[in-house]
Amino acid sequence: MSKITPMLSQYHRIKKEHKEAILFFRVGDFYETFYEDAVTASKVLNITLTSREHGKGNKIPLAGIPYHALDRYVTRLIKAGYKVAICDQLEDAALAKGIVKRDITEVITPGTVLRPSLLKEKENNYLIAIIPDNLSVVSANRALGQEKKFGLAAVDLSTGEFLVSEIEHKDLREEINRFAPSEIILPNSANEDFLSFRNFHITKKEDYHFDFNLAYEKLLNHFKTASLAGFGCEEMRTGISAAGAILAYLEENQKTALNHIYKISPYTPSGYLLLDQATKVNLEITSKIRGEGEEGTLLSILDQTKTPLGARKLRGWLLAPLLNLNVLKNRQEATYELIKSTDLRNNLTSTLSQIQDLERLCARISCGRANARDIKALENSVDVIPQVINLLEKSSSVRLNEIKNNLFDFSDLVNLIDKSIVDSPPLSLTEGGIIKEGYDVNLDELRNLMRSGKEWIAKLQEGERKKTGIQSLKVGFNNVFGYYIEVTKPNLHLVPAHYVRKQTIANGERFITPELKEYESKVLGAEEKIKRREYELFLTIRDEIGKEIKKILQSAAGIAELDVFNSLAIVAVENNYVRPIIDEGDEIRIIEGRHPVVEKTIERGTFVPNDSLLDNQENQIIILTGPNMAGKSTYLRQIALIVIMAQIGSFVPAKEARIGLVDRIFTRIGASDDLAKGVSTFLAEMQETANILNNATTKSLVLLDEIGRGTSTFDGLSIAWAVTEFLHHRLCCKTLFATHYHELTELSRELLRVKNYNVTVKEWGDEIIFLRKVVSGGSDQSYGIQVARLAGLPKEVIERAKEILANLEADELTPTNLPKLARGSHAPTPELAKQLTLFIPAEHPILEELRKLELEKMTPLEALNKLEELKRKINK
Ligand code: ADP
Ligand code: MG
Repeated sequence: MSKITPMLSQYHRIKKEHKEAILFFRVGDFYETFYEDAVTASKVLNITLTSREHGKGNKIPLAGIPYHALDRYVTRLIKAGYKVAICDQLEDAALAKGIVKRDITEVITPGTVLRPSLLKEKENNYLIAIIPDNLSVVSANRALGQEKKFGLAAVDLSTGEFLVSEIEHKDLREEINRFAPSEIILPNSANEDFLSFRNFHITKKEDYHFDFNLAYEKLLNHFKTASLAGFGCEEMRTGISAAGAILAYLEENQKTALNHIYKISPYTPSGYLLLDQATKVNLEITSKIRGEGEEGTLLSILDQTKTPLGARKLRGWLLAPLLNLNVLKNRQEATYELIKSTDLRNNLTSTLSQIQDLERLCARISCGRANARDIKALENSVDVIPQVINLLEKSSSVRLNEIKNNLFDFSDLVNLIDKSIVDSPPLSLTEGGIIKEGYDVNLDELRNLMRSGKEWIAKLQEGERKKTGIQSLKVGFNNVFGYYIEVTKPNLHLVPAHYVRKQTIANGERFITPELKEYESKVLGAEEKIKRREYELFLTIRDEIGKEIKKILQSAAGIAELDVFNSLAIVAVENNYVRPIIDEGDEIRIIEGRHPVVEKTIERGTFVPNDSLLDNQENQIIILTGPNMAGKSTYLRQIALIVIMAQIGSFVPAKEARIGLVDRIFTRIGASDDLAKGVSTFLAEMQETANILNNATTKSLVLLDEIGRGTSTFDGLSIAWAVTEFLHHRLCCKTLFATHYHELTELSRELLRVKNYNVTVKEWGDEIIFLRKVVSGGSDQSYGIQVARLAGLPKEVIERAKEILANLEADELTPTNLPKLARGSHAPTPELAKQLTLFIPAEHPILEELRKLELEKMTPLEALNKLEELKRKINK
C-alpha cells in the first residue's frame, strides 16, 4: 500500500465509524466525498466526479460541494434514502498546527432529521425501535414470567415526543402503520421478515444496545430520575429496552443533550379505537385512496387549525380515536364552549395564528441547530401566550382550564431576546449582524472602533489630498492587500517619498503607508472580533433559552390542543354539526346523518340526510341494497366517519346522534386492486374479510361494501351468505353490508338480528331517479339493467338482458316459499324478523316533485325534460 497523507488517514479513521453513511468531509470551503461515497454522491446529486492523484498511478474518486450548499444536497440524499454524516473542521485552519482537527458534528438519517426542508409541517416524523419477541434479550424477560410481547418505542426528534409500549404480535403491524415511521431501528440479530409488508428504512444496531440494564440506565441518566415509575413505565421491560436503544441512537447522531425529550409516555393500543390500514385508506381519513394531497379527506374537512402544532395533533387524534368516555366528554365540553362563543373563537383564531411551530423550534434549540431567526420566531410566539391565558380566564370547561394552567408566562425570555437580537437577523450565525446595539459593552466597543476606523480613513483621505495637492487621491480597499492610496497617472509626480508603491493599474498606481497599515489592522481585527463575539453571545442566549425548553414544550402541547378544539368548533358551526351523546352502550343511533366530506363536494343543501340504527340486539346486521350509484357506499362510510368523529371528541354531521363506543372499525370496501403487491382483487378482498372474521369483537363496527364481486355470482353470493351467518352467530358485531345481490335480503327471514334497508330509487318508464333516501326493506331487484341503459348500452342489448334476467329469476324460491339459497344442514332455524320502524320515509322535496310529476298529466316530451332536470339536480 502506498503511504497516505495525514488528511486521508484522518478521513479513514472517521469513515470507519460511519460506514453506512455518506461522509461529507470539510476541506476549506468545500465538503468533499471520497471513494464509493463520491461515486454515489455524484450520481444522486448530479455533481462532477473527479479524482485526485495519490501516489503513483493511484487515483481516488472525489466529489465535492461548496459548504454553503450543504443543506440542499443533504436534503436530496436523505430523500433518496441515504444517511449522511457531516465532518467539520473543529479549529481555524489558519491557526492549526499541523493537520486541522476534524470530527463528526452531525449524522442525519430519515428518522432523525431536523431541517425544515426535510420535514412535513403538518405531520410527525417518527423513528421507532422494535424488539421482536424471539430475541435473546427478550427471552430473559420472558423467563421473568412476562408475556411474549414486542417492545416498541417511538420518538419524534423534531418535536420531542417519546412513546413506549409493549405490543402483541397481532397488533404490531397496525401500530407500525399508525406511526408510518421514516426509520426503524432493529437489533442486529433480529429477523426483519415481520416488516416485509412495506418498504421501511431499517437501521440495525448491535444487540447490546437493547440490553435491558443498559437501556434502563440510559433512560435514568437522561431524565435524571431514580426510576421510571414517575412516567408509569417501570414495568415495561421490553419497551424500556427499545426506548433505551432509541435514545442511544439519537445521542450518537446528534451529539447533544436532547433536553427537549423531557418525558417518556407509555401507552397501550387497547386504549384506542383501532383502525387498520385498509380501513384508514378506505375511509379516506388522512389520505385519499388514489392520488396525492389531503383534499377530500376527513382531515381536510376538520382541519381549520392555525398552527402546525394543532395540525399534527388533530391528525394524531384521527389516527387514534379514544375509548375513554371521560376524556372524550371533556373534549366535547371544551369544543362546546368555543362553539357557544363566537368572540372567543375569533379571538383565539387570530391569537393562535401568531404562534409558530414551537415544538420544532425547541427541538432545534435543544439540538444546537437553531439560528437567530428561529429565536425571533420563538420570541414572537411565546409573546402571545399571556393573551391566550387571558382568553381562557372565564372558561368553565375542565380541559380548557387544565390547558390554561399549563400555559406559562415567558416575559423574561421575551425581554432577553428582544433586547439582544435584532428584529430581522440574517440566516448565518458567523457573519455578525445578529446582536443589538447596547446589549454587550464589549461588542459595542468593538463596533465603535470599527466605525471610527472608517471615519479615520475618510479623514486620512481628506488630509492626504490637502498635503499632496492631489484632488483625485482616493483611499480604497481590496482583498489582496487591504487599504491603499490610489493616485492617477497625471498626478504621480506629486506623490510623496514615504508612499510605498504596491500595484500598477491601467490609469495609475496604488500605494500604502505605515500609518494606513497600522489602522487597517485595527479595523479589520475589529470586524473579525465582532463576528466572533456575536456568535459567542448568540450561543449563550440560545443556551439560556434552552433552560426553559420543558416549560415551552408544555405550553406548546396546550396550544396544540386548544388549536384543535378551536378548529373543531369552527367546523361544527360552519357545517351545522351536533354534539353526539357518547356512552358505553351498544347502540349507534343517528338521526339525519350526513357524510362530512360528500356533503361539502355537492351543492350546499342537496345532500339527503339519512337515519341509522345499529345495536347488538335487533339491529346487528343491516343489509343495504339498491342499484349502483344509489348512495350505498356513501351511507356506510358516513356512519363510520360519524363514529370516528365522535370518538375524537368532535361534533358530528347529524341532527341527533347517540354513539356507543366502538373498539375497532373494519372495512372491506370497493375493489382496490393492489397490483403492485401482486395480489388479485379477489384474493385481497378475501384477505380483508378473513382479517375481519378473525378479529372483530361485539364492540366492533364492520362495514362490508360488496363481497364476492370479484368472482362468479354463485361463488360470491355463497360466500356473502356464509360470512353474514358467521357475523350473526359467532361475532355479534354491528355490521353494515351493502350489496347489489338483492338475494341477500332473504337473510332477514332466517336471521333474527338482520334488517333490510334499501336506498330508494324511482323508476320512471325505463329511467331511474336516485332519491338517496335509505328506507326499511330490501330492494327487489338490482337495477343493473337500468343503469346499463343510462350508460348508453344499445337498446338491443338491454332488451335481451331483461329477457335473460327474467329466466334466471323465475325459480328463485323453493316450493315452500323459502329462498333456495338458505337451504343446508349448517343453516340456523328460520325465524321471522321484525321490521324496524325507525325509518318512516321522510318527506324530501324531491319526493314531492315526483308526485307532482306523476299527477300532472304531462306530454311525454315535457315529462322527459322535467326528468332530465331532476336527474341533474339529484346527481350533482
Ligand atoms: P353506490 O355505492 O350505491 O353505488 P355511492 O355511495 O358511491 O353509490 O354514491 C354515488 C354518488 O351519489 C356519490 O358520489 C354522491 O355524489 C351521491 N350521493 C350519495 N349519497 C348521497 C346523499 N345522501 N345525498 C346526496 N348525494 C348522494
Ligand atoms: Mg358502492
